[in-house]
Amino acid sequence: MKFKLIYPKWTKLDRQTEFHLPPHGPVVFAATLPDFVDVHFTDENLEEIDFDDPVDFVGISMMLTIQVKRGWEIADLYRKKGVKVIFGGIATMLHAEETMTHADAVFLGEAEGRMEQVLEDFRQNTLRPRYDFIDDRPDIALVGPARRDILNRKLYNHKGVQMVDLVHASRGCRFNCYPCAVSYLGGRHFRPRPIDKAVAEMAGIDNNRLFIVDNSLAQDTKWEMELFREMVPLKKKWCSHPIEDKPEVLDLAAQAGAWYVYQAVFDTSDYIKERIRRYHDHGIGVEGTILLGLDDHTEDFIKRLIDFLLEIELDLAEFTVLTPFPHTKAWTDLSRENRILSRDWNEYSADKVVYQPKHMSPERLQELLDYAWSTFYRDEPQHIKMAKLFKQVVMKEMADNSFKPRDRSLSGRTFGREAIREDMRGTKEDGR
Ligand code: SF4
Repeated sequence: MKFKLIYPKWTKLDRQTEFHLPPHGPVVFAATLPDFVDVHFTDENLEEIDFDDPVDFVGISMMLTIQVKRGWEIADLYRKKGVKVIFGGIATMLHAEETMTHADAVFLGEAEGRMEQVLEDFRQNTLRPRYDFIDDRPDIALVGPARRDILNRKLYNHKGVQMVDLVHASRGCRFNCYPCAVSYLGGRHFRPRPIDKAVAEMAGIDNNRLFIVDNSLAQDTKWEMELFREMVPLKKKWCSHPIEDKPEVLDLAAQAGAWYVYQAVFDTSDYIKERIRRYHDHGIGVEGTILLGLDDHTEDFIKRLIDFLLEIELDLAEFTVLTPFPHTKAWTDLSRENRILSRDWNEYSADKVVYQPKHMSPERLQELLDYAWSTFYRDEPQHIKMAKLFKQVVMKEMADNSFKPRDRSLSGRTFGREAIREDMRGTKEDGR
């Protein structure tokens, strides 16, 4: 059975340097498909979809709300040709009802152990419009190594340097932050994969640089430390979401190859200042993820926050505005207060104001978003800050001789600032 798996394109953050990482959702999903399925993957961000290519069944994998309208368009085109289409992925779960009107089936939840039945239904022509396993999560031990073989690796190189590979060691999150849908999507319970399986998968990835995409590693100290301990011999270099703020955990993370973290900076407290310093003391870089427009954010607060980010010497910062994605508390509250101004999902890019902020006009918040990017990168542009962060990983790799000569720019041709700057453009996750 020829199964075409499509990852719809979307427009990247306006002020963010554009680069493309290999997507994770589709390769994790592909690992759940039975052997008789011949998977052909298209990442529409990098390749045109060949609608004339004959296929038996189409799957559309959507991670972000800004992918959904394009996903629906693609499905409509295939269905007009008589090809059946199934949707899955995080954004399908957030937009299930609407997506069903463009689909033969939607798959909601985690796919491990479920796809044999779905494909059997397809073969018997008894596909159900909705496979809903949101509250019936499979055993996490069923998660196998992602099918990275379906990716066209050449596309994820930037000037000869391979992008980081994405991998996950756990699902779920015990926190329940205001703007986040993870508690709906993955549950409030932290669900770690068996460490030996997660580490074996990392070891098997033909790339020295990884992005561990777990929601937050700071969930369970014992697990986190054991994971890092097992990762030390791999000598991989990796970025991740937050690491727990304990000296013994940070020590082990550094030994395990922690390169940099994405850390939310939400106030100007001494706690945040010290938290960032402790990462830096352990040789771990920090990219701040800065969300503007919460109900306690005045114009003065936002300006003070940007000054603070410069003062604490964040390595990088990514600024977004509060966006009320469906199934978040932000969505519930702002809907109830009649403050949502647009339900055009193409506007839900996190760099467009789609709601009425509490202390200013939407236009003013939009201007302050621009002010944040411009002010933070005023004295040292983004590409220079990125180059510095990139240099850190090169130094770490050189220190343990783990860098790969296939990185053309590092193997002789050039190793100057230009090369680092160009290469670094691809080392961060797209979107949020
Ligand atoms: S923002 Fe991060 S820590 Fe908070 S609920 Fe979402 S995934 Fe968990």
